[in-house]
Amino acid sequence: MKETIIGVKKEFVNKYKKGYPLILEEALENPKVLKEEDQIITLIDDKKVFLGKGYYGKQNKGCGWILSNSKNSSLDYKFFYDKLRNAFSKRMKFYHSKDTNTFRVFNGEGDGIGGLTIDYFNEYYLITWYSKGIYEFKENIIKAIKSLVSFDGIYEKKRFEENGMVVDEDSYMCGKKAPEPLIVKENGVNFAIYLNDGAMVGVFLDQKEVRKSIRDKYSRGKRVLNTFSYTGAFSMATAKGGAITTSVDLASRSLEKTTENFKINNIDPTKHEIIVEDVFLYFKRAKKEELKFDMVILDPPSFATSKENRFSAAKDYKDLMKSAIDITEDEGIIIASTNCATFNMTRFKKFIDDAFKESHKNYQILEEHSLPGDFAVTEKFPEGNYLKVVFVSVY
Ligand code: SAH
Repeated sequence: MKETIIGVKKEFVNKYKKGYPLILEEALENPKVLKEEDQIITLIDDKKVFLGKGYYGKQNKGCGWILSNSKNSSLDYKFFYDKLRNAFSKRMKFYHSKDTNTFRVFNGEGDGIGGLTIDYFNEYYLITWYSKGIYEFKENIIKAIKSLVSFDGIYEKKRFEENGMVVDEDSYMCGKKAPEPLIVKENGVNFAIYLNDGAMVGVFLDQKEVRKSIRDKYSRGKRVLNTFSYTGAFSMATAKGGAITTSVDLASRSLEKTTENFKINNIDPTKHEIIVEDVFLYFKRAKKEELKFDMVILDPPSFATSKENRFSAAKDYKDLMKSAIDITEDEGIIIASTNCATFNMTRFKKFIDDAFKESHKNYQILEEHSLPGDFAVTEKFPEGNYLKVVFVSVY
């Protein structure tokens, strides 16, 4: 691969000296020399002192990742092998778990290679490439995986554009083809996974501890509203814990996918409600009809546009929270979750606090969660720890 040496602007030098791994276009003296995403970048300061070595790869944020802080490191097979071996061995306790056979085995910069994630789904691996640049290392990465673990098959998602279009093709790469659905187990709860069905495969693995805690401590005998419910993962967890659930999602596929998940968990779907509707309309209707729930789960996407609404977590979470407060019983619980990386936990809690003040209600924080252990993070890149979940009781 081509190697390009690039100077870092003075005001950014300290950031990179401290090990910040994301290469920011605005930090580079001359980003224009970077053309094709097939090059290794060496960053230097104004005195030509080495700062880091990485690759050029455009993502929605940043234009590449630093992979090594050692000048002599060549980003060769051994480099990738060592990073992957380290990541796999850190997950040994997950591989040995009896009631969980799905987890993240490689989490981007948290495991030393930004722009690459690998998830494990019951003998199948799913690799996600976040830029063309990281895809250039594909051969060495696949070779390393093959030499480190056994598997039934490997799938891949390319989360980058080719000719201006998001790559949408068969995700199968090698080994056996996965059954459809592929059934996986997380803390004893089953989920139906479709490895070859677009970017989202059926479950977001980063919520495993949240789901477990809700199921074990807060679900028995409760009426639960699960909003932005997708395939109903939170509904499965709470139903397994003894709750009766109402799932609301705008996407019509959520009806069959949620029904399927109930069935593979031996739960009668007819005892639960699955509603295909805009959550914001549902909230209005529920308030008018004076519906009340013992628990309301809020796990919206960072941005959502529907016919009726335009939602941005950073701007509108407080109002979403107020809608939830309106239909939560006294002594009830709200699970407020966001994966929005543009604000931190402190600000998230401020949205929650403001919502309660404006609703003239009191609350108490019961639990807080961020990413689980398999979603490794590095203190050098705090924004990588995007997940924020707060359990509050309402009174
Ligand atoms: N909470 C889910 C993940 C949510 S993914 C889980 O735990 O698995 C985001 C979901 O929000 C998608 O399924 C999408 O269809 C849904 N969505 C986006 N905008 C919506 C809206 N206005 N009303 C209802 N659902 C919406």
